[in-house]
Amino acid sequence: MSVTNELLLTGLTLLDHTKQVFGHVHIVGDRIGAIYADGDDLPNVNRTIDLTGLTVTPGLVDIQVHFREPGGEGSETIRSGTDAAVAGGMTAVVTMPNTNPAVDSVEVVRDIQSIAAKEAHRLDIVTSGCLTVGRQGAKNVDYAALYEAGVRLFTDDGDAVMDAALMRNALQASTQLPGMVVAQHCEDANLVAGGVLTEGPVADQLGVAGRPGVAETIIVARDIELARDTRGRYHVLHLSTGASLALVRQAKADGLAVSCEVTPQHLVLTAYDVPRLGTSGRMNPPLRTASDVQALREGLKAQVIDAIATDHAPHAPALKAKPLDQAPPGMLGVETSWQVAWTHLVLPGIISPCQLVWAMSTRPAMIAGLHRHGQPIVPGSVANLTVIDLAATQMISNESIRSQSRNSPWLGDVFYSKVEMTLKDGAMVNDN
Ligand SMILES: [Zn+2]
Repeated sequence: MSVTNELLLTGLTLLDHTKQVFGHVHIVGDRIGAIYADGDDLPNVNRTIDLTGLTVTPGLVDIQVHFREPGGEGSETIRSGTDAAVAGGMTAVVTMPNTNPAVDSVEVVRDIQSIAAKEAHRLDIVTSGCLTVGRQGAKNVDYAALYEAGVRLFTDDGDAVMDAALMRNALQASTQLPGMVVAQHCEDANLVAGGVLTEGPVADQLGVAGRPGVAETIIVARDIELARDTRGRYHVLHLSTGASLALVRQAKADGLAVSCEVTPQHLVLTAYDVPRLGTSGRMNPPLRTASDVQALREGLKAQVIDAIATDHAPHAPALKAKPLDQAPPGMLGVETSWQVAWTHLVLPGIISPCQLVWAMSTRPAMIAGLHRHGQPIVPGSVANLTVIDLAATQMISNESIRSQSRNSPWLGDVFYSKVEMTLKDGAMVNDN
């Protein structure tokens, strides 16, 4: 006879998208069996852990990460990416398909799934699929076949699909395949060709070509019109400008099935930070202006922005040691996103703790169809949970980072709050 896993976590603050209250959590099997208030009689459970002073949230969900496997194992692997994600409080992630080979066939999906299965006791890893064969922008992939293999989110991330007919096909497919999401890296390839930083004074000062904000706006505008035409399901990856946010706001007001995410770095940093950060400050889309940051913060507060996703983009130190115009774009994210957001968005009062949980767990889980994640902290919910010390501080350093790479703009910075552990399907994943 099997013995059901039972665990009693006492002395916690329960924080989900609707509440922040004191309580004790009784986990039975892979679910929350009961919640007890202060003063309630607690059951006698063999494994009782006193977590007085800590906070428990639904497990964090990051729908935009690059784990580089297959093909980029010198920068990150599914294993090292899992170490990093668990340390950051994630219980589920969606990996991007710009691997080598790209995720454009059922065979590659199956390969990634078999590696991800080895980490499933720590983290649920689901791969996205390409929108076009080889991310070449010339031919649609077989959406139904990849969907059948479990793919829900499709994107050529790293590049925009420039051919409107291919985008229209993809959005039409999404109306036939429930839960399919067409996600776009919104930068017009011609307008950003050769560009390094956002167009403007910093790019000029550093002598590199610019990537204008309008490159994002016109792709978002075109795709929204295609979503209107097809009634397809559309998602903007790492939205970065106030102008494109205004388009998403209108599309939502028009009742279209449109959502968007933003990265922590685009909510905190601007192009003026790049001279200080060096190549860790180079990413696509690039860091923008202070007025864009202000607009994104307002969009997050108003929940026009659905989710915070990191675009976790590890690059081996040798790659990022190149000059700014030759170093690959992207920065680490999964380990620090909660801390960055808590410190720069919640503590200053821009969004509430409940809103942060919505943007980093509840809503991204809904977008990606990760139905075992992001559930409220109530009896019956799957016990995918993150335990956080909101009173702690932590300095990000080479030693604290679990990723195989070190390209973080936050090295040497101190953040408020610290992830203490995650629980995956009711079992403690003690990583920190
Ligand atoms: Zn991208």
